[in-house]
Amino acid sequence: MKKIILTGTESGWWFVCFAGRLWLPKGDAPYGTAEKWSLVGKTATIIGEWQGELVWLIAEKMPIDMVSPRMVAAQDEGLFRLAGRGVQLAEFYRSHRYCGYCGTLMRHSPTEWACLCDHCQERYYPQIAPCIIVAIRRDSHILLAQHRRHKQNPVFTVLAGFVEVGETLEEAVAREVMEESQIKIKNIRYVSSQPWPFPHSLMMGFLADYDSGEIEVDPHELIQADWYHYDELPKIPSSETIARRLIEDTVALCRNQE
Ligand SMILES: [Zn+2]
Repeated sequence: MKKIILTGTESGWWFVCFAGRLWLPKGDAPYGTAEKWSLVGKTATIIGEWQGELVWLIAEKMPIDMVSPRMVAAQDEGLFRLAGRGVQLAEFYRSHRYCGYCGTLMRHSPTEWACLCDHCQERYYPQIAPCIIVAIRRDSHILLAQHRRHKQNPVFTVLAGFVEVGETLEEAVAREVMEESQIKIKNIRYVSSQPWPFPHSLMMGFLADYDSGEIEVDPHELIQADWYHYDELPKIPSSETIARRLIEDTVALCRNQE
């Protein structure tokens, strides 16, 4: 997209991103003029709007206050999505400087989020990894698991995994659940999605019902998994996550059937 050298009068929200990190001076997303934040002379691109103000991306590293975009999640969901866009685009441009076919230095497309090779006319777009996430209900119980990746912060959540090449979303849901827990599920239905910039996933949320089988966890993925009564849930993920939404939807289904 079109790049601008900042003169100082440009205004809006400033996302300075590098290597999956985001600049949050004093813990907040910077807002105001380029001059106020000493960004004059830097190269910036408009990546969206939030609350009627422009959102700018500057793809470079600041000496301090570079943190995970997750820090914005608590502030606002819309701002978090744009922060995720910022860190992913910055990383896309950093990892696509040269054409993967011929090695020629590429240029940024002025009209879309893409890198162009003028030698072999190839066009590269940011990678998005489709990922399914599913809450499974068995009467008044929900399947929740403690994942190895949450070892530091013991939270119990639903099952999730990446979609494989040549697979439908529904197939991915059934396969992931079978691989991680040995449970067969039925009545798989789509609910909602959430871009998740760690590093570039698109989470696609499903609900499903238990069909058959006994839980047997994959020790490479999970520490433990069990059926939890909807009234006695362990520590579950925070409210900005799609996992939380799926758990709450399942709790509502459990309540309704009683
Ligand atoms: Zn090329």
